Amino acid sequence: MRVLICGAGIAGISAAYALSVRHGVRDILLVDPRPPLSLTSDKSTEAYRNWWPGPDGAMIALMNRSIDLMESLARASGNRFLLNRRGYVYATAREDTAQALIRAAENAAQWGAGPVRLHTSSRAPAYRPSPPEGWENSPDGVDILTHPEAIRTHFPYLNPATRMVLHVRRAGWLSAHQLGMYMLEQARDAGVRLLSGEVVGVETRGGRVHRVHVQSERGLSDVVVDVFVNAAGPFVQHVAHMLGVDIPILWEQHTKLAFNDYMGIIPRDAPLLIWSDPQYIPWEEEERAFLAETEEGRALLEEFPPGVHARPEGAGESPIVLMLWDYHTQPVLPRFPLEFDPLFPDIVLRGMTTAVPALRAYWDRAPKPLVDGGYYTKTRENLPLIGPLPVEGAFVIGALSGFGIMAACGAGDLLAAHIVGAPLPEDAVAFHPAHYSDPHLYPRLSAWRGEWQL
Ligand SMILES: Cc1cc2nc3c(=O)[nH]c(=O)nc-3n(C[C@H](O)[C@H](O)[C@H](O)COP(=O)(O)OP(=O)(O)OC[C@H]3O[C@@H](n4cnc5c(N)ncnc54)[C@H](O)[C@@H]3O)c2cc1C
Repeated sequence: MRVLICGAGIAGISAAYALSVRHGVRDILLVDPRPPLSLTSDKSTEAYRNWWPGPDGAMIALMNRSIDLMESLARASGNRFLLNRRGYVYATAREDTAQALIRAAENAAQWGAGPVRLHTSSRAPAYRPSPPEGWENSPDGVDILTHPEAIRTHFPYLNPATRMVLHVRRAGWLSAHQLGMYMLEQARDAGVRLLSGEVVGVETRGGRVHRVHVQSERGLSDVVVDVFVNAAGPFVQHVAHMLGVDIPILWEQHTKLAFNDYMGIIPRDAPLLIWSDPQYIPWEEEERAFLAETEEGRALLEEFPPGVHARPEGAGESPIVLMLWDYHTQPVLPRFPLEFDPLFPDIVLRGMTTAVPALRAYWDRAPKPLVDGGYYTKTRENLPLIGPLPVEGAFVIGALSGFGIMAACGAGDLLAAHIVGAPLPEDAVAFHPAHYSDPHLYPRLSAWRGEWQL
């Protein structure tokens, strides 16, 4: 079987790994004009979780398998990609948010994310904080702390108005680049070839893929294939059009701030911290008056969405904290290089100050931040597309939105199963591209909404 994979992001690499290392497919060419993992896959927050509320457990099942695979790779590689299990901490000062989080946790538990443990006492003796490193022997499910004293004991840096903390336990972060490079090295040892070039056309014959046109430094070449995998990330729709196939995709720009927390306000062993309430940015009085003068400024005085989040980054004495807040998520068309809102650092720092009030110390003396980001390439339901396209021999692994790192191992495995004809898990149908043309294939699709996105 001759396979060409278009795109060496985490999706294409994971597909190459699963096909070559797990299924023994030998003739695989991975084609990308950019260095591996350099477009979107090295721009992420690198966080993972198995906590995916929704109308069924498809995402939980995919993520659980993906995390199982990541853990086995971490074991095999001596944890080269620094997988941890610090968890996601959702904090709220509002009763309605608290109730919504509890309902989501009960729903997720029903679909396999692990049990809900409610700790209501002031000491919460059964609550086990996460170790800063490693992942073995950690609980799954969620722990919910409701007593102010217990919250203060375990999360003294959070806003004192916090009335509930929900700690997702099968969650944490890793080095996405190292995970990707580890899989790529293993795949290359198993025979996968990497070619620096761009796929510029796909030719079909008798309704199936036949030849792929690749533009490289050496000029235009034709590669005869049996299988073509579209793993083109933000260009997944463009590449699908080469096959005469349309896939419904939208893009959102997401931005990330790397902040030098030289005062050490976010503890180095903190989990991923998420403020789960909508909020009005706590501007100073003078700033407020200034902003009120223009339409653009007034928009910054309106309510902002929930979800500003942060986590410590880097080992040892690293002072870096990553901060994100997706307050602008209207669809855009992908354009490179990206342009960033110059106000993003100020807005995200202030928003995060609502969660961690001591960050206020940086308002007048914030160190120069590093800003980067990329696109969430997604379906409107925020479900990935993994499986065959309507041209025989063509497959897609894409629309990985804001979860492509955590889903990569599971998605690559699932795609490989489609390609080699191995048994598919029950949830595969939720990610099958054909569910757009055949509504009977996955009737629950209409109940999905892209919520719980970070
Ligand atoms: C700010 C931000 C934060 C995020 N945080 C997280 C997180 O915490 N956890 C998580 O799991 N995910 C996160 N994500 C999402 C994750 O980064 C993506 O889902 C994932 O990287 C997508 O991988 P990919 O391989 O599909 O795409 P990409 O990494 O973009 O790779 C696609 C590749 O295809 C190549 N390509 C395109 N067209 C062609 C062509 N014609 N020929 C050959 N090659 C082509 C490109 O050059 C590129 O290298 C985040 C994303 C952003 C932007």
